[in-house]
Amino acid sequence: MTPSSNPPAPPATTDVLIVGAGPAGLALAASLRQLGVDHVLIDRHDDVQPGSKAAAIQPRALEYLDRTGVADRLIQAGDRGRGFRLHDRTQTLLSASYDNLDTPYPFVLLISQQTTETHLLAHLDELGGKVHRGHTFLGYTPDFPGVAATIAGPDGIQRSISARYLIGCDGVHSAVRAATGIGFPGNAPEQLFAIADIRTNSPALPQEDTTFYLSPAGMLLISPLAGGLHRVVGPTPNPATPTADDIRRLLAERGPHADDIQVTEVVSASTYRVQERVAERFSDGPVFLAGDAAHTHSPAGGQGMNTGIQDAGNLAWKLHAVLTGLAPTTLLDTYHHERHPIAAGLVAFTSQFATLANLRDPADGELRNRVLAAAASTPGVTEWIATKLAQLDLGYTNEPDHGPVGTRVSPNTVPTTGLHWTLALDRPDHTGDHGVLAIRHVSGLESPLLVRPDGYLAAYGVPTEPEKVLDQLSSYLPAHPTR
Ligand SMILES: Cc1cc2nc3c(=O)[nH]c(=O)nc-3n(C[C@H](O)[C@H](O)[C@H](O)COP(=O)(O)OP(=O)(O)OC[C@H]3O[C@@H](n4cnc5c(N)ncnc54)[C@H](O)[C@@H]3O)c2cc1C
Repeated sequence: MTPSSNPPAPPATTDVLIVGAGPAGLALAASLRQLGVDHVLIDRHDDVQPGSKAAAIQPRALEYLDRTGVADRLIQAGDRGRGFRLHDRTQTLLSASYDNLDTPYPFVLLISQQTTETHLLAHLDELGGKVHRGHTFLGYTPDFPGVAATIAGPDGIQRSISARYLIGCDGVHSAVRAATGIGFPGNAPEQLFAIADIRTNSPALPQEDTTFYLSPAGMLLISPLAGGLHRVVGPTPNPATPTADDIRRLLAERGPHADDIQVTEVVSASTYRVQERVAERFSDGPVFLAGDAAHTHSPAGGQGMNTGIQDAGNLAWKLHAVLTGLAPTTLLDTYHHERHPIAAGLVAFTSQFATLANLRDPADGELRNRVLAAAASTPGVTEWIATKLAQLDLGYTNEPDHGPVGTRVSPNTVPTTGLHWTLALDRPDHTGDHGVLAIRHVSGLESPLLVRPDGYLAAYGVPTEPEKVLDQLSSYLPAHPTR
């Protein structure tokens, strides 16, 4: 890039500086834009990065992305998968279908991360937002009550951006996290994985379900991808980039029993090592971490990017509420309080799943397969697994006396109203918007419900008058944690 082609430098002051325009940073920026919050989004790269990363969006992330107005275009750009399946190469052991989930999106949206980011970017652009590309975050110093961040521009010149809040959405090697000194404990198992997006000549590969083949030779994940491709992931001892022949061998040794499956095209391939880590804290004063900067884990189960998008959803409305005076600054403490346990649970879940899938002792594998087949015929088990993988079970109900407060409210029950708070009433004559509060008619409600902008129950039995709800909004905010 020549100096004359450099885009304008980002503003020197902002309410929210977001570092990193991956899925978490883009989702956060679009949300803040929609809420009218002043922000600056920077990324060190010139464009969306290619490569085999997330291949699916889960229903819960789609529900949030619908609130920001981008779900429909993503759905049009992807394919619909039915769910997850565990297979022993000859028969299905357990099938967790999304068909009956209580969500407007009872499917796994098969879409590459690159396509997802491209659409999030286009959406941000339509909202009037932008990414300041070629700008690298280097560090920050406290600048009460916010920070002064040092950024290197594409011209190599260092500039300072003064921000009330700094959000690190800068991925697993987060420079923002490093600058805070927040620890990132966990482990990095030795096991190496091969990952490849391929085209084959075979109808034997799964067409609807992400399928884990649990064979005596080791685990192999095969997932349909948008555009007639398949994603293949399996443990490998070989650090070299997998070739078509390597993938064909993996399919023959561990995939479905079928006549020789020819790999006709390798669209992308690499090897990776899983890291299982959760940041000790998700915030430090005016600095917050979201997405892979805050947590990283095995990609088995397709949860990582989805969790980052929901981090963004949790943080966006809280930043808006605090910056507009609707809520005290202590509301922002609930970001760590709510999201950290979810990330820790996810790391534990994906780690256990990966260990189970990778059992190499034939007797252990046989026992595992028998237990899975028995679990599949136990009422409720496959529904529970589908709900968990779809992330529809997640909520913020850690306090013992919370009741349903903090649980997800299905958009099938209370319609989505963008990033408004929603007052749901069984009174058809009461609908419309009152500032940040939208009122919707829901028939059959036992008592009025108040739903947070990110789709979780804030309170029930609230007044039916919007003015009263708005007056009392501070009493419906999530509890300020003692920590
Ligand atoms: C092989 C593989 C398979 C995966 N499969 C799945 C899956 O099936 N499902 C799933 O949900 N997830 C999956 N993931 C995880 C998913 O890719 C990540 O969770 C997701 O990319 C995290 O998004 P993010 O926005 O937090 O960070 P990133 O996507 O890492 O984006 C960070 C951004 O920050 C920018 N940046 C970094 N440092 C700086 C700096 N100092 N200054 C400015 N900008 C900076 C980068 O350029 C980048 O654009 C997979 C990951 C891998 C590696």
